[in-house]
Amino acid sequence: MCGKSKAEKTFSKKDNFCAKAENSDSCKGDSGGPLVHEKDGQYVVYGIVSLGYGCGRKNATDPQAILIKSELLTVIQDKYPKAKHHYLILPHQNIESIFQLKRCHLSLLDEMELMAKNTVEIIGGKLSDFKIGYHAQPSMKRLHLHTISNDFISSSLKTKKHWNSFNTDLFIPARKLYDMLENQGKIERYPAHVVNTLLSQDLQCNKCSYIAENMSNLKQHLLLHDK
Ligand SMILES: [Zn+2]
Ligand SMILES: [Zn+2]
Repeated sequence: MCGKSKAEKTFSKKDNFCAKAENSDSCKGDSGGPLVHEKDGQYVVYGIVSLGYGCGRKNATDPQAILIKSELLTVIQDKYPKAKHHYLILPHQNIESIFQLKRCHLSLLDEMELMAKNTVEIIGGKLSDFKIGYHAQPSMKRLHLHTISNDFISSSLKTKKHWNSFNTDLFIPARKLYDMLENQGKIERYPAHVVNTLLSQDLQCNKCSYIAENMSNLKQHLLLHDK
């Protein structure tokens, strides 16, 4: 998206820069991905995909794509939010997933949780209305902390897998993950059969004892809690 594109008008040159590959722009699923470059034999993260022009046209006019940026972390809105509010806290340090974490990352995890709480405060939300945690089976190859409002009202919430990845033990609260890392020195993967059992679990409402037969029933039911 280099050159005189419309996108240029929406980003500040102080915090953003242009990157492209031949004939390609950022697209679906790229947001939050790292821009890495080799420096002294190591890959260094220089930036995070937040805007695009071609395929990512919609976000090019969305100034909220990057919400907060600190020395260590960036907060972005999830491109496919699974609730009214859904943010990702991303460290600038290139860590692939929770499975690469060591005890030396404990202070980073603390920073990330604090940033998640600050984000809720900044948008005027209540902490008790939010879930802050990590997926036990992450889908994106970059460490990220989910900060999501527990209404789960969103057109992007479509499948049982979506629901159960946030509303079963597949979602590990930030504090719990911190304790696991502190106690064990690493985060271990759940065995495949455990993941499958959790993903295929009944659609249990996160606010009452209601069990929905399918996603459309659950989505209708969730609206009742939103009044
Ligand atoms: Zn995730
Ligand atoms: Zn309910």
